[in-house]
This record gives sequence, C-alpha cells and structure tokens, in this order.
Amino acid sequence: MIYNTLSGRIEEFKPLEEGVVRLYTCGPTVYDYAHIGNFRSYVAEDLLKRFLKFLGYRVIHVMNITDVDDKTIAGARTEGITLKEFTRKYEKAFFEDIETLRLDKADYYPRATEHVEDMIKIIQGLLEKGFAYEKDGSIYYRIAAFPEYGKLSKIKKEELKAGVRIDSDEYEKEDVRDFALWKAHKPGEPSWKAPFGEGRPGWHIECSAMSMKYLGPTLDIHAGGVDNIFPHHENEIAQSEAYTGKTFVRYWFHVQHLIVNGEKMSKSKGNFYTLRDLLAMGFSPRAIRYLLLTTHYRKVLNFTFDALYQATASLKRITDFLFELETRKFSEGESEEASRMIEKTRDDFTEALADDLNISGAMAAVFEMIHWGNKAMEEGVIKKRDAERIKSLFYDLDRVLAVLPERIIEELPDDIMALIKKREEARKNRDFATADRIRDELFQRGIVLEDTKDGTRWKVIKD
Ligand code: AMP
Ligand code: ZN
Repeated sequence: MIYNTLSGRIEEFKPLEEGVVRLYTCGPTVYDYAHIGNFRSYVAEDLLKRFLKFLGYRVIHVMNITDVDDKTIAGARTEGITLKEFTRKYEKAFFEDIETLRLDKADYYPRATEHVEDMIKIIQGLLEKGFAYEKDGSIYYRIAAFPEYGKLSKIKKEELKAGVRIDSDEYEKEDVRDFALWKAHKPGEPSWKAPFGEGRPGWHIECSAMSMKYLGPTLDIHAGGVDNIFPHHENEIAQSEAYTGKTFVRYWFHVQHLIVNGEKMSKSKGNFYTLRDLLAMGFSPRAIRYLLLTTHYRKVLNFTFDALYQATASLKRITDFLFELETRKFSEGESEEASRMIEKTRDDFTEALADDLNISGAMAAVFEMIHWGNKAMEEGVIKKRDAERIKSLFYDLDRVLAVLPERIIEELPDDIMALIKKREEARKNRDFATADRIRDELFQRGIVLEDTKDGTRWKVIKD
C-alpha cells in the first residue's frame, strides 16, 4: 500500500510487470554539495527501494544528474572553468556522499549533457504534434494543448497566471504559463545544435527523456521532494504523455521537506548543513541516516541537533543489544518464546512498512524485540541458537534500514589488544594498580573494558 500523489489516496501497489519495479528518482543539480534536506528525500526514496527489494522485487532504478542549467553555468563561469570540470567536481562529491549514507546504487545515473539528442527527439515530436511552438529561437510547451495539465498538482490552469514568475527572456511566449523546452543559444553559454535551432534544453525535458530512455514510456514509480510536484513533475507528465500518448507514471511518490526553525532547508535561504558539515562535527553517518530515515516520508522532518543526538542514542540501543548477543555466553539450545518473538518482529516490521512505509511502526517492532530480548537474556530465556537467530534477524532487517555497523565487535589495533592482554595478566597476578592504570589508558583512547564472569569484553565508544 502506497500513497499516490496523483490520486491523493493510499493505493495497493502493483507494478506493470510482475516482480519488476521501474523506479525513477529526480537527482541532484551538481553545482554545490548536497545538503541534508536533499538527502532527506534521497534517504526516503532509498527506504522505498530497499523495502521493495526486501519484498523480492527486482528494482530498475534511474537517477538523473542535472549537469547543465542556469546554476551550473553560472558556477562554472564564476570559477573560470569549463562546465564539465565544474559539474564533475560536485558529481564526485555526490557519489561519495551517497556511499557515506549507504544509498543503494541506482542502475543508471544519466547525465543531462549526455542525453541532449534524446531530448531533441522528444521536442521535435512535440513540435510535430502541435504541443510545442517556437518563439525567437526558443521552444515552448503549449499548455493549452494538454487538457490534463494540473492533474498531479491539482493546480487549476486558470489560476496559474497569477503566481508564475515571468522570465524577462520569455515574454514572447504565447501564454505566460508555457514553459521552455529549449532555450535559444546565448553567447557564452554551452549549446547544442538541433533541427529547430542552436540552444540548450530546459530543465524539465531531461527527466522525461532520460526516464523513458532507460525505463520505457510507463514508469511504475517516480519520486522526488514535494517541491518537485509543481511545476517540474506536472511538466514532465505534460511532455511525456503528449509525446507517447501513454500513461507516464503509475505511482507518484513525494517526500516532505526537512525544515529548520519552521523553514525549508535550502541553499538560497542559507539555513543548511551539508552531510560533510555534520561529519566534521563528529556525527556518524549511520546516525545521520537514522535521523533522516525514521520520520515518515509524508511528514515534515524538523532538523535539530537534539534530534540528531537522539538518533545517535537510539542507534546505540540497537548496537548495544547486538553487542550483548555477540559477547554473552548462552546455554545450548533454543526456546520457543524466542522463535515466536523473532517471527513476530519480522511480521510487524514488514507489515508496518507495507502500510505506506510506516517507519515508526517498523522501528517499534525492532525496539519491542530489544526490550523483550534484554530481559530474556537476564532471565536466561535466550539460548545459544536464539542469539544467533536474533542477530540474523537484525542483519536481515538491516537490508532495509542500513544503519548497523559492519562489525559489532570492532577489531582493535594490535597494540591495544596487547594492552588488554597485559591487563588481564596483571589482574591474574592481583596487580590491580597496573590493571587500573591500563584500563584508564584505554579509556583515554576511547575503549571501555568490562570484566564479566566470562572474561573481559571491550567496547569502542564513538558514534
Ligand atoms: P535540487 O538539487 O534542488 O534539484 O534538489 C534535489 C532533491 O532534493 C529534490 O528531489 C528536492 O525536492 C529535494 N529537496 C530539496 N530541498 C529539500 C528539503 N529541505 N527537504 C527535503 N527534500 C528537499
Ligand atoms: Zn526530475
């Protein structure tokens, strides 16, 4: 079940082709580092994609890279380098960031500049069908020719005029509502040759061209932030459906904004943190992902440092639990109660996410298991095989959440392991002064020791 912006309702999800989901997500404009508001959208889309894969779907995923537009052209000019040099720098940063945040890799990351031919083909088709017209070397989409315009955003065509920003370059349009498919060449700007004149594409056409090229005329899911609904996605529908005569997108998935002090986080307001800013402050990538992930995608996410500390703490509760499962000595065997809990956790988690990605419900299932498990460990209910199965369950659910560390017990450098050994020897010889001195030294280095009846355990305190 998933909310579809087009119908305004939660609908049953059924892809066009059984078992395969064709997913397109609007990607970054590579003119600067992406901020965590952008990543809120990408992380929510990642949850959707990972959950579909968890359910067994094959997902074909395309995310575009906008590497030519007003902002990239202006940026390259300011730095005195070519558009390609400029955009590749931020594209590289973006790929590093998505790896840091563990966003599942798309199958294709098409660049706008490498698909201009595909865009030209569609514009040409729209001209031929009367959905587009030329004015002073630019090509505009004729909204009046597409009666369904407004069906996604529910914007009434008649009301459009008032709110629309009128670009002084575009005063020649038949109608102020019409948007540019192709912008006539201006000196100093990159341009491409086309049958209808030299120029460069408008922004909206790239998503129509690149999504249909890799996924076909009809996509199952098209995703983006809510600010994309109008005009970007409305325009994509108009272009694509006028061109193919087919339904462009079956489910529209839109992510609410991340806000700071009541305002949308955005470059232009200057109220933003990049991922790199937060990492430099010492927050872990996994905690940042946890924060962005755990608010339902259709609710506004209010960014505060308090919330980030809370995310860090919640994540620590999960890893502490896994640490106990990893390091305690359990008695042989398995218990029925644990089996029941494992099954219940998996079912509750899956059911919650299947209900329009109810992440709060899914996390509640996880924490219910932890709550039960901590108590059950104390009471000796959990047996050796249960501990193994609970750990596997968590790593299985982490195919969707992607917040767990790769190893619960970190491998410590040799010199630290040597110190831990030396301290154990000191304790055996009842030389407690030396043992305590080593414990303090390790603490300074971020390692906490805990002596249990089964031996000494250690934890690395970071995150
Ligand atoms: P842009 O690079 O501005 O085209 O934005 C890339 C993606 O980030 C789009 O899907 C936007 O909708 C999304 N986005 C931008 N700002 C925010 C925000 N504050 N919260 C959530 N998503 C955002
Ligand atoms: Zn787009």
